Amino acid sequence: MKREFDAIVVGLGALGSGAAYWLAKRGANVLGLEQFEFGHARGSSHDWSRIIRKSYFTPAYVRLAKDAYAAWDALERDSGEHVVFRTGGLDIGPYDGAIALSTYAESMRTCDVYFEILDASEIRKRWPVWQIGDDVHGLFQPDSGIVAAERATAALRRTATTFGAVLRENAPVTTLNADGDEIVVEAGGERYRTGKLILTAASWTPRVLAYFGMRIPFEVTKEQVMYFQPRDLGGFAFGEFPIWIWMDDPSFYGFPVFGELDAVKITQDCGGKPVDPDTRGFEEDTQITARVTEFVRRRLPAAAGPVVRLKTCLYALTPDRDFIVDTLPAFPNVSIAVGGGHGFKFASVIGRILSDLALAGRTDADLSALKIDRPILQMSDPRKTYML
Ligand SMILES: Cc1cc2nc3c(=O)[nH]c(=O)nc-3n(C[C@H](O)[C@H](O)[C@H](O)COP(=O)(O)OP(=O)(O)OC[C@H]3O[C@@H](n4cnc5c(N)ncnc54)[C@H](O)[C@@H]3O)c2cc1C
Repeated sequence: MKREFDAIVVGLGALGSGAAYWLAKRGANVLGLEQFEFGHARGSSHDWSRIIRKSYFTPAYVRLAKDAYAAWDALERDSGEHVVFRTGGLDIGPYDGAIALSTYAESMRTCDVYFEILDASEIRKRWPVWQIGDDVHGLFQPDSGIVAAERATAALRRTATTFGAVLRENAPVTTLNADGDEIVVEAGGERYRTGKLILTAASWTPRVLAYFGMRIPFEVTKEQVMYFQPRDLGGFAFGEFPIWIWMDDPSFYGFPVFGELDAVKITQDCGGKPVDPDTRGFEEDTQITARVTEFVRRRLPAAAGPVVRLKTCLYALTPDRDFIVDTLPAFPNVSIAVGGGHGFKFASVIGRILSDLALAGRTDADLSALKIDRPILQMSDPRKTYML
C-alpha cells in the first residue's frame, strides 16, 4: 500500500526533528522515519546538554548561529519548553595555541557580535577555578550557553506532531527509489511516496547517499563525555561558571553544573577513534579518559573528583568538518544535512533551511561553504582537519 506525503524525513535525531518541525509548522504533510526508538543513544543527539555559541571561525557560521538562536526561540514559543540556557561562553587557551582566538574575534566583529578579550588575570578573577598562567588568554561572549539536548529534540518532535507531522520510530528506511519527480520510500514494512525527501541520517549518511549513486569521504568516530563531581560545586554553579572551550590541540570543552547530577561535563573534542555505526561498542575509551583527567587535574583541579557518568556518542565527520546542507545535484527534490560533530546548536535553523529547500527550492541562508559537491568532498582520500 502506498501513502503519499509532501515531504519525508529520514532520521529523527536533532537535525531531522528540526526539519520535521519546520515542515509541519509551514503546513506540509510530513512523515518522519527513525530506525531506532526516539531519543536513542546510538547516534549523536542524546544526553542533556550541547554548547550553543555565536563564537565561530567564519562570519557565515556566526550568521548561522545568530539565526539558530532565533529558530530556537520559535520552538520555545511553539512548545512552551525552555531549551536554550545562556551561561556565557569562554574560549580559552595559550596565546600560541593551535586554534587562533583572533579568527573567532574577527568573525564576530564582522557580524556585530559583542565579545570581550580577557587576559589571564581577568579570567582568574572572574572564575577562580581556572589554574592558568599568564601565557593564556580568553574571549568571552555572553550569549553562549547550553541547549538542553534531549529535551530540545523531544520538543522538536512533539511540536512537529502538534502541527500534524506523522513520526514513526523503529522504522528503518531500507529502500529509496527515484520515480520521476517523486521518491518511493520503504521503511518498517510500509511503502510511501513523496515529492520531497530530506536525508538527516548523520553517521549513516554514506548508506542513504548510496541509493542516489553518491559517495563522499566520511568518517564516524566514537566520542565520550564524562561528568566529574567537583570537590566544591560552588565555582562551577549554573549562573556563575560559563561553558568553555580550550582552544588548543588537543581541544577540551566543558559546562557548568547542568542536568540531573551535581557534576560538570568535561571532555575532549574529537578525541575518539573511527567506528562503524552499526557495530560500534559503548565501552569506555580509556585513552580519552586519561587525557581528559590529566587536563582537569592541571587546569580545573577543583573539578577533579570522581567520574559519576560516562556516555559515548558518534561524530559524523566530513574531512573539513564543515556541515553539508544542500540538495543533491542530480536530485533537486532530495535535500541533505550533516552536522559534522558540532551541529546540535544549529538543529533549529538547519531544520528551517531544509524546509526552505524542500518547500521553496531555495533559501536565503548562505550555504556556499556547505555544499555537497565542494572540492574536498569530490576527493577520494582528502586530508582531514578536525580542529574547530
Ligand atoms: C559527544 C558529543 C558532543 C557534542 N557536543 C556538541 C556541542 O556542544 N554543540 C553542538 O552544537 N554540537 C555538538 N555535538 C554534535 C551534535 O550533537 C550533532 O551534530 C547533532 O546531534 C547531529 O544530529 P543528527 O540529527 O544529524 O544526528 P543523529 O542524532 O545521529 O540522528 C540521525 C538519525 O538518523 C537515523 N537514521 C539513520 N539511518 C536511518 C535509516 N536508514 N532509516 C531511519 N533512520 C535512520 C539514526 O538512527 C539517527 O537517529 C556533539 C556530538 C557528540 C557526539
